[in-house]
Amino acid sequence: LTDVARVASRGTIDAIDVTPIVDELVPAGASGTALVRLPHTSAALVLGPSDEGMLEDFLRMRRDWLAGLRPFRHVENDNPNGEAHLLSSILGVTLLVPLRDGRLDLGTWQRIILLEFDGPAQRTIELRLL
Ligand code: ZN
Repeated sequence: LTDVARVASRGTIDAIDVTPIVDELVPAGASGTALVRLPHTSAALVLGPSDEGMLEDFLRMRRDWLAGLRPFRHVENDNPNGEAHLLSSILGVTLLVPLRDGRLDLGTWQRIILLEFDGPAQRTIELRLL
């Protein structure tokens, strides 16, 4: 069983707490484990705190972390979306999340954060019960 939600990112880079959107996809009473997946190559899903400072820290990571690798060689010389693909592949596009009573069973400070690296874009989030 797969259910899908769509999220619009707001800028070239963005950090969006999508926990409520993903939680809505969990069927009533579901238990077990959910695979949460982005079918994309220039965004990522991570678990972390979602206070405003932390979301800014994620954006700073995007700006600074791989700067030493420039120029990127993807498709055309220094295509900035080469960096987006690298970050997406390093951070990942899937999360395994336990479920309890039809809700995501997350740790106290764990939120599901969608990191956009090549927006603005319409992003699809899939939830698949395992
Ligand atoms: Zn590309």
